[in-house]
Amino acid sequence: MDIIRAIKGTKDILPEESSLWQFIERNIHRFMKSYGYGEIRTPKFENSSLFNRSIGINTDIVSKEMYTWTDQGENNLTLKPEVTASVVRAFIQHNLGKQKQLNKFYYIDSLFRRERPQKGRYRQFEQFGVEAIGSKNPEQDAEIISMAYFFYTKLGLENLKLKINSIGSKESRIEYKQALKDFFIPYKDKLTSTSITRLNDNPLRILDTKVDFEKEIIKNAPKITDFLSLEDKDHFNKVLFYLEKLNIKYDIDHFLVRGLDYYCNTVFEIQSTLLGSQSALCGGGRYDYLIEELGGKSTPAIGFAAGIERLIIALDNKVILDDSADVYMVTLGDSAIDIGLKIAYDLRMMCNLNVTSDMLQKNMKSQLKEANKLKAKHAIIIGENEIANKEVIIKNMLSGNQENISFNQIINYFKK
Ligand code: AMP
Repeated sequence: MDIIRAIKGTKDILPEESSLWQFIERNIHRFMKSYGYGEIRTPKFENSSLFNRSIGINTDIVSKEMYTWTDQGENNLTLKPEVTASVVRAFIQHNLGKQKQLNKFYYIDSLFRRERPQKGRYRQFEQFGVEAIGSKNPEQDAEIISMAYFFYTKLGLENLKLKINSIGSKESRIEYKQALKDFFIPYKDKLTSTSITRLNDNPLRILDTKVDFEKEIIKNAPKITDFLSLEDKDHFNKVLFYLEKLNIKYDIDHFLVRGLDYYCNTVFEIQSTLLGSQSALCGGGRYDYLIEELGGKSTPAIGFAAGIERLIIALDNKVILDDSADVYMVTLGDSAIDIGLKIAYDLRMMCNLNVTSDMLQKNMKSQLKEANKLKAKHAIIIGENEIANKEVIIKNMLSGNQENISFNQIINYFKK
């Protein structure tokens, strides 16, 4: 019979790997709290209209990649392809802007996009990210960007590249879009069909191309920085100034626009040279218009999203975790099994130890071999003699030393 396999672009995380995931997740929770951000958890699926309206129907995500279906109640639903839209939906729905002028969220979540799977690109993947909703000030941009940057450096990542740009306010972009159109029209015969569509809908997104010959053309395109209003320029310069004060190196990339429709002003991406073609560890930017566009009161906001699979690739097996058991229970015979279960329970409850028991009724040699394989620090051995003397043997697996300890002294032994 054919075996059923996981769907292309999805994967299982087995126990050996899940310790690293847990380590990263613990770090995320700790790090975000150190900046005063609170965790938000939103549903895995939403009304499709949420993403159509926020991300934009002409983006790759909405036009080609969403897992969308109609359920038995004729609701048009979509598995979440990104988190910002859901956070904003929740922010509006729960009227959070009324309760606090500034709301700071972080999340860890699973996302779904029907992309072409490859290393660092999956159809179900995990992101963590932050959203600060309520401040229009450049120090908020600097905080968000530096959070992403320092999260990585704290984990020991090197070879980071921060790319940053300002795509200005809507007003600044009107003139720029026209300048881009004027620039690209003479190249119309050479552009891909995607770019020709973008030329009409949103010429800024042509700058997002991954096609080499288009990248060449773009090198000579007008730069948004020449079209920014004084206010936009001032905002951007202050963001850069704060980053410099924090000793964060950046490259201004005039053609960084990011794929989604809702961004404005500051946009950024952090790349790692270790990642190969899928080089972006995280990306983000301002989205000052999105809350109003989704029916809320006009509120400025900024955030970033970061892929966990790519972080794991960039960590390159450098994180060493000690997952070894504290104690392995070696039990020989029915009475020993019975006593062993109780001792294991006490050690877990009273001493907070990780205790593994045999469960397969193997012989003594095999049980000790298993203890070694699990890198257990101690083995507790219980056989007939030990039961008769109301004691156990505690073997230090590193030194090989053994001690006989009476039943009622086991907890004290480990508490010491
Ligand atoms: P985006 O939401 O597209 O701005 O992506 C933000 C980050 O999520 C990227 O920098 C990647 O680290 C990660 N990411 C995006 N798409 C995928 C994917 N299909 N598979 C794995 N990670 C992804």
